[in-house]
Amino acid sequence: MSGVGVHSGKKVTLTLKPAPINHGIQFRRVDLPDSPRLSAHFNRVVDTSLATVIGEGGCIVSTIEHLMAAFAGMSVDNALVELDNYELPIMDGSAAPFVRHMREAGFKRQSGAKCFLVIQSPIHIREGDKSVRITPAPHFRITCTIDFPHPLIGRQSYSLEVTDRCFEKEIAGARTFGFLHEIEYLKRFGLARGGTLENALVITEKGILNETGLRFPDEFVRHKILDSIGDFSLLGLPILGHVEANRSGHAFNHAFLKEIFARKDAWETRTYHDLQEFGQFNPQLLAV
Ligand SMILES: [Zn+2]
Repeated sequence: MSGVGVHSGKKVTLTLKPAPINHGIQFRRVDLPDSPRLSAHFNRVVDTSLATVIGEGGCIVSTIEHLMAAFAGMSVDNALVELDNYELPIMDGSAAPFVRHMREAGFKRQSGAKCFLVIQSPIHIREGDKSVRITPAPHFRITCTIDFPHPLIGRQSYSLEVTDRCFEKEIAGARTFGFLHEIEYLKRFGLARGGTLENALVITEKGILNETGLRFPDEFVRHKILDSIGDFSLLGLPILGHVEANRSGHAFNHAFLKEIFARKDAWETRTYHDLQEFGQFNPQLLAV
């Protein structure tokens, strides 16, 4: 896939390649000497202010969240992502183009034991009016609530059990959004250089600038779900639990990942075979 980075405005080509069992999702900068690799893991996150950025030793990969959501939403555990610049292409601002290309390439089931992070007791963080919590559940459910004092948005809430089919149909197509005054401010500082009406919903005081309108009446909260799926995938293991995020964003989700990791008493890892034995198996976990 080729496109431009939404913040850098730089052209980039992205290639998704198969990877062996237990490889996880890794990024490889083919434009740098020795083509350094970076794991998509929360302990590699170096910035979350405008997008999720991972980095190590002078090598960074920026705006990974929509591709990470596509991997998690389609149950892809192992892949190598090669790119020839530092920021992923924004495509149409959603995860749909990534999912479409993955579908065209096809998926392969591997024989290793799939491992899950199973939440055993609730974990939550709160800061002002923002909060995130996770509670035990036999599947991965995510509920997001946003509240913007705007006639087109207001309070929106959306909840779904993350399986491949519903991710592709209900979430993958929801586009990123921003308020016009914020975008103008970012552009003044040399950011949002690649941002256009082709890859973002631009919100004005009364409506949106995009003439083609919304893909879903509640596209905004659906995109928050998409972002959260991408953020939570940085734990490195699929989660069995119910995430409830209230007015959260990349930075707050990232703080929550650190909290989950620190609370080792509240979760354990189990393989698919363990879950079958304990009667916790949900057939949708293996859906492809
Ligand atoms: Zn996003």
